[in-house]
Amino acid sequence: MNEAVDDPDSRVERFATIWSRTLFPLTATSLTRAEFEALLSPLAHRLRDALHARVFDAAEARSIGAALVQAHCTDPEALSRTLDVVDAYLVLYCGVDGRQEELTARAARLQHALAAGFAGALRERTLSEQEAISRAALAARAAVEQALHVSEARFRAVFEGAAIGISIASMDGTILEVNDALVAMFGGVGRLRGRNVRDWGHPDDPPTVWRLYEELTGADREYFRAEKPFYRHDGTVLWTNLTVSLLRDANGVPNYQLALFEDTTERRLLNLRLRYEATHDALTGLPNRTLFSERLEKALTAGEGQRFGLCYLDLDGFKTVNDSLGHAAGDRLLVEVADRLQSCATAPGEIVARLGGDEFVALTTGPRAHVEVHELAGRIMNALAGPVRVDGRELTARGSIGIVEGPAAGERGAAEVLRSADITMYRAKAAGGNRYEVADADADARAITRHGLTTALPAALERGEFFIEYQPLVHLGDGTVRGAEALVRWSHPQHGILGPDRFITLAEHTGLIVPLGRWVLDESARQARQWQEAHGAGLDPVPLRVNVNLSPCQLQHPRLVADTVEILERTGLEPGALCLEVTESALIGADDDLLKPLHRLAEMGVDIALDDFGTGYSNLANLRRLPVSVLKLDRSFTQGMQHYPADPVDLKIVEGIVALAHSLDLAVTVEGVETGAQADQLRELGCDTAQGWYYARPGPAERVRELALVDAAG
Ligand code: C2E
Ligand code: CA
Ligand code: CA
Repeated sequence: MNEAVDDPDSRVERFATIWSRTLFPLTATSLTRAEFEALLSPLAHRLRDALHARVFDAAEARSIGAALVQAHCTDPEALSRTLDVVDAYLVLYCGVDGRQEELTARAARLQHALAAGFAGALRERTLSEQEAISRAALAARAAVEQALHVSEARFRAVFEGAAIGISIASMDGTILEVNDALVAMFGGVGRLRGRNVRDWGHPDDPPTVWRLYEELTGADREYFRAEKPFYRHDGTVLWTNLTVSLLRDANGVPNYQLALFEDTTERRLLNLRLRYEATHDALTGLPNRTLFSERLEKALTAGEGQRFGLCYLDLDGFKTVNDSLGHAAGDRLLVEVADRLQSCATAPGEIVARLGGDEFVALTTGPRAHVEVHELAGRIMNALAGPVRVDGRELTARGSIGIVEGPAAGERGAAEVLRSADITMYRAKAAGGNRYEVADADADARAITRHGLTTALPAALERGEFFIEYQPLVHLGDGTVRGAEALVRWSHPQHGILGPDRFITLAEHTGLIVPLGRWVLDESARQARQWQEAHGAGLDPVPLRVNVNLSPCQLQHPRLVADTVEILERTGLEPGALCLEVTESALIGADDDLLKPLHRLAEMGVDIALDDFGTGYSNLANLRRLPVSVLKLDRSFTQGMQHYPADPVDLKIVEGIVALAHSLDLAVTVEGVETGAQADQLRELGCDTAQGWYYARPGPAERVRELALVDAAG
């Protein structure tokens, strides 16, 4: 391999070269291209460092955007091209294998920050430019006055040489003189001289501009300024910062009006575009949270007789689609959902927005909003009902909706209303999803919010508020207990005992899952070691093993193998007594890098189980690639066998899966066994191990040992 190309620094330089090559034609600098590249190079290094920073902070990109403006890259196209270059090449040249997705997400955030920094710096620069221009205007005015009094020749020089547009008109508005800059602004050909200033009206004129003009020509004011549009000769619009002032003769009698035009058309377009980008979601084109909050804030203060109604939608099971079919498929599903939502809210006063991820909102306003919001929710549920085709597959987009409605009397702010809608949406999800619920104040007050739990998580780990329950794993052939799955719980000081479904996702989002997962592993390994010792001392009939859940974030953590080895050594547990459970969705589509740590663990003798098997869109052929030795069939399969005789289709499916698993040398564990009938069926189908309430609920570690002893005795 070519060393120079692979060296990280030379890769950043490649990036800087591409960047400078695209931007250079647009700059207004006197630098050579090499000098310009030298200017961009440190910015490229900073971008790379921001991309890789251990603690990610998009704000660094803001100052890079500002630095571009300082480097005279003020053309709107310069920003747009910079964003394109970052998009196409930053991760390509400055990424590392295996973190592609994370880095791409970071790069997107860097682009947003960069655009914001660019816009901010441009605005500041414009302000200071305006000051400079008004100073120039004063100077020009003085010069023109002078020139009129002194000599025609000097006047010409000032007038013609100016970079800004200048016109001089008589007091009745007839245009007497225009300079070349102004002619160019209006599109070159076509006459300005001889026309009247009053013909320069435009429908978008600021309301005060003509009153100010009358005051000026009436000599009631010396000058005025306005941001005013004009029609160019070809009918397109020229936006200007306009300054008009009176010129008086030597006796102080006003005899001319002098107008200075600064062309702001491009800057205005850029601002409009930046405003659009800052207020719309790039993927779906829907308004984003920022714009929606503005609209909602307005709707909430519409006043007497007006009401608002809000639907907060979160897709059910979207994560599974994303994890198992990939982000591109997930994106397509979101775009389709966005289109359908938009077709549901077309009346005036209705708006749909995407808040992020798979969360959308729809707002309706007006005196009947309390009725209309229910109709709106109904329309949304209907619109989602039809299948969505993505990559030749039919997906169903189901969702849960939280509804909030009320008078637009300004009692509540947008943030509070959104929070209440979010809590209500969660209630709909908890009730099984694919439905809507209406907010109610009591339920809100009782709700345990995601935010509250998230912020309490780190301290909870330090204070030892987590504990583990163990659920026995039973051998279907002889009914003996062979081990147990460790399931973590949170003993929350206010809310009591919380199950993992309440906090694991939050811990994954905040990264706390890594230390929490390590703690669970450590604790479970210690427990399993005790069980094994009891067996060794002749107290227990079998050496019990332990199963521990791993979340996808832990899988990607670079220290997974090292931490596990360290824990096994410290607790003295042999690797064969540990089984790590990973979900199917975390592994499907995984590349070799992601699988490497699992292979290492498997080689050491740790068992790997594929958890929740059958809930993703799995490819059975893929199983061969994975270092797993156990399949855990999801509870949904067991549910079909609650009664005798069981659903024949379910039976066929399970039979097929068991046969396939055995042919690949995988053991099959079934989850959620609640009745004896299920247990019998599953044994007949050839499943190896079972877990479920029929045998035991999750409980304290001693309980597992007791059950093992009873089995042996009975
Ligand atoms: P899982 O790995 O599929 O765990 C099995 C879940 O099914 C447990 O819920 C268990 O209490 C429940 N269950 C067991 N038998 C029955 C039954 O007969 N009927 C029914 N209806 N349910 C049964 P739990 O404890 O709420 O755990 C939920 C999920 O949280 C687990 O699903 C696992 O994915 C995750 N989890 C639990 N502990 C940990 C942990 O330490 N780390 C990580 N990353 N995830 C964990
Ligand atoms: Ca599990
Ligand atoms: Ca499971």
